Amino acid sequence: MATAAETRDVFKEVFGGAGEIIAAKAPGRVNLIGEHTDYNDGFVLPMAISHGVTIVGRLRNDRMVRLRSLDYGESAEFDLDERYDARGPRWSQYVEGVARTFDEEYNGEIRGFEAALTGDVPQGSGLSSSAALEVAAGLLIDELNSLGTGRVEIALFGQKAEHNYLGVKCGIMDQFASCLCRKDHALFLDCRSLEHKHAPLKLREEVVLILDSGKSRGLADSKYNERRAACEEGVRILSGAIPGIRALRDVSEAQFDCYSGMLPDEVKRRCRHVVTENQRALDSMEALLKEDMERFGALMFASHESLRFDYEVSCEELDVLNEIAKDSREIIGERMTGAGFGGCAVALARREGLEDLKAVLSERYFKKTGRRLKIYETSPASGAAIVD
Ligand code: ADP
Ligand code: MG
Repeated sequence: MATAAETRDVFKEVFGGAGEIIAAKAPGRVNLIGEHTDYNDGFVLPMAISHGVTIVGRLRNDRMVRLRSLDYGESAEFDLDERYDARGPRWSQYVEGVARTFDEEYNGEIRGFEAALTGDVPQGSGLSSSAALEVAAGLLIDELNSLGTGRVEIALFGQKAEHNYLGVKCGIMDQFASCLCRKDHALFLDCRSLEHKHAPLKLREEVVLILDSGKSRGLADSKYNERRAACEEGVRILSGAIPGIRALRDVSEAQFDCYSGMLPDEVKRRCRHVVTENQRALDSMEALLKEDMERFGALMFASHESLRFDYEVSCEELDVLNEIAKDSREIIGERMTGAGFGGCAVALARREGLEDLKAVLSERYFKKTGRRLKIYETSPASGAAIVD
């Protein structure tokens, strides 16, 4: 990815030199544990990754927004005083959605701007390049207009933009992680209250690996809706025995063991995943506070099992990776991450012998699946920031 300085140079070439130029950067994220818990009002534990999106911009005196994407080699523009027509290239719709959301929130007082952007978050692999783009754009717009918008609001505006302008009904985790994560920490987020805590994750002898299976997440959308429906069905039935529950988040493991007999088998397994996964997210937070990496790794492995057998959102490729990881002494924990049916896995691995490990993983994965594994090495990075 081009650096902020290089992006500034491109900006100047495209838009000319005069006036104050501001740069904002926001990271992608990987979810360490707490999968398919967000829409059950539960807990997630993501961290920001080293890959991000940088956007460089300058205020205009009118309400026009002019954009240049370095990576797509394209330009786009729109007028905040005209209606949204969804005719710009997809990448520009994210920035436009965020700009229009800010404009709605601030009563039409957002000024136009021109901006150049670039990023190195792999797109469409489940590392949330879209949230990185939204949050970077949000931070830039906030700074250019001197609005002083809070971090949580910037995340919420990004989510709103994705809902209202991109038509993607995403949860809040991605924008939240991109906006609020801290270096050397994971972020524990309660998806109901938005309360959050920073869990120390200073990796000395370990490293986080993101393993991109290369399998695209084809079935994910329809299966996702089925899973949501099963969770709702579970809540409906269980509320007969546990009054007042609103979501699976409200069901403890002990309550579940007591009443799960009321549920049809498939609904039972779906709900069991969510209930146990919420507990694993809580236990992971404890493990991180104690710097107990072995415990944390064990919870990651347990999460994969649960996603594979109870929630049934894994796939052959992700299971092959998991089996290889379990066989490897250098890997402390590993699980599929994201919605499933393809995409990425995340692993906590020992740094010693890492090059050998990467070679072995790739070779074994290729032998079993015929696919090339992409491996990204990362550690918990900072959330979005204004940069030089
Ligand atoms: P992801 O899982 O990576 O968030 P999405 O499909 O939600 O996948 O978002 C990917 C989209 O975000 C891309 O198609 C593109 O429109 C936009 N995007 C991400 N990174 C960049 C970038 N560096 N430059 C321009 N657009 C980007
Ligand atoms: Mg996305």
